[in-house]
Amino acid sequence: QPSGSSKPPKPSFSKQDLEHYEESDFSWSKEVQAKLCSVFQLSNFRPLQRAAINLSMSGKDLFLVMPTGRGKSLCYQLPALCSKGFTLVIAPLVSLMEDQLMYLKSVDVPAVTLNASSTKEDSKRVLAGMIDKNNPFKLLYVTPEKIAKSKLLMSKLDKAYNMGLLAHIAVDEVHCCSQWGHDFRPDYKLLGILKRQFPKVPLVGLTATATSNVLKDCQKILCVQEPITLTAPFNRPNLYYEVRFKDNEDCTDQIAQLIRERYKNQSGIVYVFSQKDAAAVATDLQKRNILAQPYHANMEPSDKSLVHQRWSSKKIQVVVATVAFGMGIDKADVRFVIHHTISKSIENYYQESGRAGRDDGSADCIVFFGFADIFRISTMVVMENTGQQKLQNMVAYCQNVDRCRRAMMAIHFDEVWNDDECNQMCDVCRHGNDYITMDITKHARDVVTIVEMASSMDEKLTPLKVCDAWLGKGPAKHRKTIKVTSLSRLEVESVIIHLLLHGYFSEDFSFTPYTTHFYLKLGRKAALLKNDNHSITMKMRRRVMSHATVSQSINSAEVFIFHMQAVPKAQEGREIRENHSKRIL
Ligand code: ADP
Ligand code: MG
Ligand code: ZN
Repeated sequence: QPSGSSKPPKPSFSKQDLEHYEESDFSWSKEVQAKLCSVFQLSNFRPLQRAAINLSMSGKDLFLVMPTGRGKSLCYQLPALCSKGFTLVIAPLVSLMEDQLMYLKSVDVPAVTLNASSTKEDSKRVLAGMIDKNNPFKLLYVTPEKIAKSKLLMSKLDKAYNMGLLAHIAVDEVHCCSQWGHDFRPDYKLLGILKRQFPKVPLVGLTATATSNVLKDCQKILCVQEPITLTAPFNRPNLYYEVRFKDNEDCTDQIAQLIRERYKNQSGIVYVFSQKDAAAVATDLQKRNILAQPYHANMEPSDKSLVHQRWSSKKIQVVVATVAFGMGIDKADVRFVIHHTISKSIENYYQESGRAGRDDGSADCIVFFGFADIFRISTMVVMENTGQQKLQNMVAYCQNVDRCRRAMMAIHFDEVWNDDECNQMCDVCRHGNDYITMDITKHARDVVTIVEMASSMDEKLTPLKVCDAWLGKGPAKHRKTIKVTSLSRLEVESVIIHLLLHGYFSEDFSFTPYTTHFYLKLGRKAALLKNDNHSITMKMRRRVMSHATVSQSINSAEVFIFHMQAVPKAQEGREIRENHSKRIL
């Protein structure tokens, strides 16, 4: 073959290539199939598992993107069993590794771990085993910290590599490499050493959610040359997505009602913002005769696993949890995942809500979207480089009234999307056109003036204070030249969120030794409002009232009060009039 200097462009992984790797006539196929049955006691592969395994066995580097619970682990465990030597698995959490080890032990697969809580003796045994030709274990689970910090481990890996005993490398939750993923972990950044040091060992990176940008970032960080990416279908057709406006007073009532009625005798999760909320909401639900228990990171490990167990065996109906309740959960018949507080990113939301309906039966994913929660989360993620942007994406998902929720997620994850795939399995598709397009230019000028005025007095206003001032509450100095708005509180909140999402406002953090405060300041686009021709429209949901009220009185309470007088006639667009007349009924 001529080896010219101008290389042809890299062929990407095609459909035919995939078909080739889906086949079962590789030299290892018989063994793989046999061990699938005899060791893992499974009869069939799930989509993409066979291809992933064949690719790894062929020595290819691979990124496997597959929703949580679909069986990513098998894709490195089976190759480990069918190869000489051992497979190195990097996993982010000790608890995750322990779950895996327990499972592997139950199916008689020799596996070990090295982590901060390993005893000296254990470590010694493991380190010796790595270079033992008799291969005392097939999988070695380590935390990324170990790779980063233990020279001893690296030296043994080096030796094992030279002896041909380092068969594969698996990086679980590979999105942790990238700051753009939803769970960045600094020690993952150092894992590039593995591929640099052991170039001949095939690496597989596994994750449930990663955009192509995140994956590109991971590829760079891990120093993988040309990984093949396999992506399992990301759409979960059996999940119904819904966003409700959160009214702090009756949010718990609504949740309790759902759990008692719609989800009677069915299991679910209520995600909350903080450990305190977990305890409080669990108590509130218990008071309403619901078998609920809290779960958060600060509990004793034994209490955590007790709650998990009780829930798995249906002794309790609901776990009220922080995001600590996540990795390692594989209950199949979760019928609802309710977010008492929005997630901090769409990645997180997809993953958390995705714990519903793993048995492919229908399940609901409902978010309660509350104004104040946005700023609680915002201050929580203040140290993360991409925290605000990711939160804004989540807020935009909730604030959205006219795009299919699935479409929004698909776009976010760079997925090809076809709008009829939703099948009315989201609130937007189901209640289509339930919104009004509104000219908010005058409103925007008013509320921007409030913030401007405060800043001219050297004062900072929290979003709550801005709402109050605009609604005619709080100190009069904040609204000197501004009339009290005719909008309702929910509308006021929606307008402020809209202005924040669109750059008319921006976040202004201030730090005290104990807490971080969120204030509103003028955003880069605020100055545009000085221009008479500048106008802003926004789409607002008609049913801004709580769902409970709506379902009780379809005709009156649900109707969003649209203040025509607030919109000067000249600026009234056609769309606005149309919607308005439709709404008048
Ligand atoms: P992930 O890492 O993708 O979240 P896991 O690897 O933890 O998922 O697997 C989730 C569950 O799916 C496990 O209980 C596993 O036994 C099961 N599973 C994996 N592959 C198969 C299969 N081919 N058939 C049936 N169950 C499977
Ligand atoms: Mg996993
Ligand atoms: Zn939809």
